[in-house]
Amino acid sequence: MARESWITGATLFTQDAGRRVLRANLRIVDGTIAAITRSKPSRLSPGVKTIDASGLVLLPGFVQAHIHLCQTLFRNQADDLELLDWLSKRIWVMEAAHTPDTLRASALLGIHELLSSGTTCILDMGTVRHTEAILEAVRDSGIRASVGKCLMDHPQTTPEYLREPTDEALREAEALFRGWNGRENDRIRVSYAPRFVISCTERLLTEVARIAREQGALIHTHASENRKEIELVKELVGAENIEYLHRIGMTSPRLVLAHCIWLNETEKRILRDSGTHAVHCPSSNMKLASGFSPVTELRAQGVNVALGADGAPCNNNLNAFQEMRLAALIHKPTHGPRSMRAQEVLDMATLAGAKALGWSDRIGSIEVGKRADLVALDLNQPSNTLPAWGPLDPELIASSVVYSCQPADVRYTWVDGRIVYRGGKVLTIPREKLMSQVRSAQLKIAKKVKIGRL
Ligand SMILES: [Zn+2]
Repeated sequence: MARESWITGATLFTQDAGRRVLRANLRIVDGTIAAITRSKPSRLSPGVKTIDASGLVLLPGFVQAHIHLCQTLFRNQADDLELLDWLSKRIWVMEAAHTPDTLRASALLGIHELLSSGTTCILDMGTVRHTEAILEAVRDSGIRASVGKCLMDHPQTTPEYLREPTDEALREAEALFRGWNGRENDRIRVSYAPRFVISCTERLLTEVARIAREQGALIHTHASENRKEIELVKELVGAENIEYLHRIGMTSPRLVLAHCIWLNETEKRILRDSGTHAVHCPSSNMKLASGFSPVTELRAQGVNVALGADGAPCNNNLNAFQEMRLAALIHKPTHGPRSMRAQEVLDMATLAGAKALGWSDRIGSIEVGKRADLVALDLNQPSNTLPAWGPLDPELIASSVVYSCQPADVRYTWVDGRIVYRGGKVLTIPREKLMSQVRSAQLKIAKKVKIGRL
C-alpha cells in the first residue's frame, strides 16, 4: 500500500523555475511530492500522517557537494595549518588509523550535524579503506549521498600508509559501485574519488575517466585549491592542473571539482565548455589560507558552482547556513554588494548542488514529481525575524535564510518523505549512543597515531 503523508499550512519557498513562494499544502506519496494544493485535505484516510507546518518556511533540503564524513572525528585537531601541512602532518595520519568502527562513528557524527541543520544530500569523499562503513552509515541514517572511496596510488607523492596499487584501488572502487550504487530507491550512489592530481598516477586517472564514462558515474576530486599544489602539479605533469585534467579526458558534466581557486583564463573556459562543476567551500578556503575562488566570474561565465563545507577539521562546522553566509559575504569587498545576492547563494545550495550530483530530476526544488527532501525553518525568532509585512516576499525570505538563519531555526528535516530530524533530535541517530561511540573512537585513533600538539 502507498505510504501517504501531508505537510500543511507552510510557506513553500519552492526554488522552481519561477522561484515561486506559496502558502500551500504538500501531499507526499511514497517519498515523492504528489501534489501542491491551496486547500487543505478535507478528509484523510486512517494511517495518513499530517504535519502542521503553519508559521514555518519549507525549502528544498540543502545539497553540499563536497564533504569528508571520514574526518568529522578530527574536528578541532588540525587547526591553523596550510593545506599540504594540514594533510601530511595531521589528516592523512589520522585517516589511515581508521577502523570500520571509528569510520562509522565519524560518518554518523557528520550526518547528525548535517541532518539537524537541514542538509539532506551530500557528495562525500571517503578515505582509502573501509568505505563500506560510510555507506552503511548513509543507509542507516537516511541521508541522501553519493560516496566515493578515496583513490591514492602515486609512488612519489603519497605516503605509503595510504597508498594502494592502482589495480587494487580500482577493483575495490568498482566493487563498491556494483554493490551499492542505486540502493535504497536510489538514495545512495557511488562515485569515483581520486584525491587530487598530486596523489594519483595518470593511469589511475585515465582508468577512472574510462570506467566512470561507461557506468555513467560521477567523479569527485579536489583541484587548484592551493598555490603550492598547482606548482607541484606543474612539476609532476608539466601542465596547469585543470588543463591537465582536460587533456587526459577527465572533464565532463560528470566531474565535480572542489575549490577551483587558482585558475587561469583557459582553465575557466575549460570548466564552462566541458560542463564540469565547481564547488565553493568558503570556510575551508579561508581557514587553510588557500585563497578566494573566482566564483562570481565562474557563475557569470555559466559554470555551475555548488557549495560545500568540506571536512570538519578545515571548517570546523558542517552546517550549510555558515557556508551560505560566507559565500554571500566574502566576495562583496572585491566585487561589490550585489555580486553574490542571497537568492543566488540559495540557488547554489539547492539547485546547483543537485545539478552537480546529477540529481536535478529528483531534488533541488519543491515540485510535483520530485522527492520530498525538505527542511522546515522557523523564521520568527528573536535572532532571525522575517519582517511581518512580507511573509511571502522571496527576497526577504532569502535574506533571512542566508544572512541570519542558524541551525537552531531548523524544525524538521525530511529525506525521501521520511522525517529524519524533529524537535531537536535526529530520529535515526540516537545522540547519547553516538557521543559515546565518538569518544571511544577518538581515543582509539589518538592511541594509534600518538597524537599530540604540533
Ligand atoms: Zn576536501
